[in-house]
Amino acid sequence: MYPLAEVIVDVPTMQTDQPFTYLIPTELQPVVQKGMRVEVPFGKGNRHIQGFVVGLSETATLDERLKPIIRVLDIAPVLNAELLALADYMKETTYAFKITCLQTMLPSVMKAEYKKTIILVDTTSEAAQYFPVSGEIDYDQAQKDGLLPKLMKFRQENIVDIRYEVHNKNRVKTLRMVNSLIDEKKAAEILQTLRKGSLRKAQLVEILGSQTEALPVKYFTNLGVSTAHLNQGVKDGWLEILEVETYRDPFANHEFETTTNLALNTQQAKAVNKILTAYKKEQAETFLLEGITGSGKTEVYLQAIQHVLKDGKTAIMLVPEIALTPQMVERFKSRLKDAVAVLHSGLSQGERYDEWRKIERGKAQVVVGARSAIFAPLENIGLIIVDEEHEATYKQEEAPRYHARDLAIWRSRYHHCPVVLGSATPSLESRARAQKKVYTLLPLQKRANPAALLPTIEVVDLKDEYSKGNMSSFSLVLQEKMRDRLNKGEQIVLLLNRRGYSSFMMCRDCGYVLDCPNCDISLTLHMDTKTMRCHYCGHEEAIPHKCPECGSKKISYYGTGTQKIEAELQELLPEARILRMDVDTTRKKGAHERILNAFGAKKADILLGTQMIAKGLDFPDITLVGVLNADTALNLPDFRSSERTFQLLTQVSGRAGRAKKAGEVVIQTFNPEHYAISLAKLQDYERFYQQEMIMRHQAGYPPYYFTVKLTVSHETEVQAAQKSFQLARQLQEVLSPQSLLLGPTPSAIMRIKNRYYYQIIIKYKQEPALKSLLEQILDESQIDQRRGLYVSIDNEPLNFI
Ligand code: ADP
Ligand code: ZN
Ligand code: ZN
Repeated sequence: MYPLAEVIVDVPTMQTDQPFTYLIPTELQPVVQKGMRVEVPFGKGNRHIQGFVVGLSETATLDERLKPIIRVLDIAPVLNAELLALADYMKETTYAFKITCLQTMLPSVMKAEYKKTIILVDTTSEAAQYFPVSGEIDYDQAQKDGLLPKLMKFRQENIVDIRYEVHNKNRVKTLRMVNSLIDEKKAAEILQTLRKGSLRKAQLVEILGSQTEALPVKYFTNLGVSTAHLNQGVKDGWLEILEVETYRDPFANHEFETTTNLALNTQQAKAVNKILTAYKKEQAETFLLEGITGSGKTEVYLQAIQHVLKDGKTAIMLVPEIALTPQMVERFKSRLKDAVAVLHSGLSQGERYDEWRKIERGKAQVVVGARSAIFAPLENIGLIIVDEEHEATYKQEEAPRYHARDLAIWRSRYHHCPVVLGSATPSLESRARAQKKVYTLLPLQKRANPAALLPTIEVVDLKDEYSKGNMSSFSLVLQEKMRDRLNKGEQIVLLLNRRGYSSFMMCRDCGYVLDCPNCDISLTLHMDTKTMRCHYCGHEEAIPHKCPECGSKKISYYGTGTQKIEAELQELLPEARILRMDVDTTRKKGAHERILNAFGAKKADILLGTQMIAKGLDFPDITLVGVLNADTALNLPDFRSSERTFQLLTQVSGRAGRAKKAGEVVIQTFNPEHYAISLAKLQDYERFYQQEMIMRHQAGYPPYYFTVKLTVSHETEVQAAQKSFQLARQLQEVLSPQSLLLGPTPSAIMRIKNRYYYQIIIKYKQEPALKSLLEQILDESQIDQRRGLYVSIDNEPLNFI
């Protein structure tokens, strides 16, 4: 019998989902497992490349052409059976190559060529014969020495482990009692020796007697035992010193207050009960926790998770972006302490790897993290939560273009556990599924803190301001309210909506926005061609010099930068202390948190910022929120622009009046009658949902239709255009008349980094043949890729532009 491994190889210029078969050499046969990475020879030159083992088999006859695996890169699978299956699902649903899916699931450090070392977990085992007790040996050396099968066995028994040396800092000297001596007469001696320090006997018995794991030397010296005594203990043979791995804790210098469970109100209790009922029945139910801002969703998550942890199960908590929500991490750490591992891009590579290892080795049971935390190697998952499920950051914009919400639901099915999608303003897709009872709706309709009142919202029509002669960015109403808050020592949050900055034309007299004649979408200004263009149908027209509606010449691009606004604000309110939060002020690591902390500590009166201030802020003294330009997102040529505007306005309004002081919100707009704005004013998600669904139905968009976007790019426009027209013809051949193909048209930003982009959008209800055609297009794109032509497929794109 000749054992074989099926390997998905990593060759960027020749991607394929077909695994290649390799022979497993005799000495590696006890080692190789599915989910491990191996090095294999590839191609005519037998180049050494990496690959993932995805299958094992045997054959009776030796095929001479088969090449053997060169070496194994892991001693334990880096992807377990579940994650391998998840890669398949991701591949199926996102039209990405399998290798891309597999690699996406690993922390980046594991992809790089870091030195790997073997560390001894149990020094008393037979492994000590092969590996030094207090040091480590190089993994590659061990492999050369033929120790791999042994290593493998030891690893399974948890006697040794392997670690990537990202930085060498994560090592600490520890002490422990030599195993064989515990409970023996030597114990008396031990106590005798240590008593010379200031430790009391009872403490020692407790410390040493109950410890199976080693304790840091520092632990003893902090208790007053001198190092001389400890060294004596080592000399006498009853203590040993070894270096063990510690995890770099990104929160090491951070004290987390302990918090306890709050008494839930009726709706919260009902929500927790329903989630736990599904959990106990091991039912993969999807819940939509629809709760207004401040309704206590986080408390629901925490209490449900606590329950699951008590049973020895684990949980994943996804948040849109951790850097923007430090208060969420704070609340989780305060309640669940060391059970929590945090994964996000703000951590250093080493920190992230350590958090990942904590999870993998079962040292953390709850993972709080952004999008990619959905790949956390947790076993035994009892609950998955996707907070702010409507947020666009859950969708990855590059291959594999997965949506973390879909993967969360997939994992909940795999583990037979519930998944909770939480939001004050659910995505239309999720809400529609709840309507159809595919998801279970859990409403929270009141603010949880009974003293916190909902804010009152006032909409100011900017057209009136101009006619009153007020040309500033701040309406008279907002100016008056700001002065009032400054007098009272209360705080103000100002949102400058920068989405769609400068990209559309609007009339300052009548508020008219230039729309496409064929589509319900505004035209986008293209500076390169000096035209207004529609991204849906390709319609194009000249930039107008006067308003087509009222004839006014005051038609112009709309948008202002935060810096400019800050200067204007300072001039208006010279005494105000202003903090600005935007991409420029938050580039450095931890900058968000510093700004938020400063604001929380009342070192400023006004926080002025872009979208990033809308999330997570929970400060008691914010009593006024101003939205300077509610319209900008509204005018983006994207069918989700109303939804996004409504979500943003709701979210930012929720920042006001979180505690006892009532909050006020001022929304400045040119379109007060637009339903996204008037319904945000009424804080009526339900009506917004109803109205938006009618629009989606009429225009044929999700959730009524499925969508796919294909993008073609090349250095020359001709090639990109030609390929996109060829694809469009291919697609038209299989599409039924009920489906719609929009385009090909140049992408919103047609040229990026000297490449030209063309796109096609397909809207359909049912197209059984589409999937296999898209797979074929993906496969064929390999050939085009060699001549610099890239085709990408985005299934259910969040951005149409
Ligand atoms: P959401 O996540 O829905 O915006 P939070 O969980 O942040 O709401 O809760 C808002 C505020 O209400 C927080 O200050 C929280 O401590 C408080 N809170 C939550 N649940 C309760 C409860 N049952 N009783 C009293 N206060 C609560
Ligand atoms: Zn006009
Ligand atoms: Zn159009």
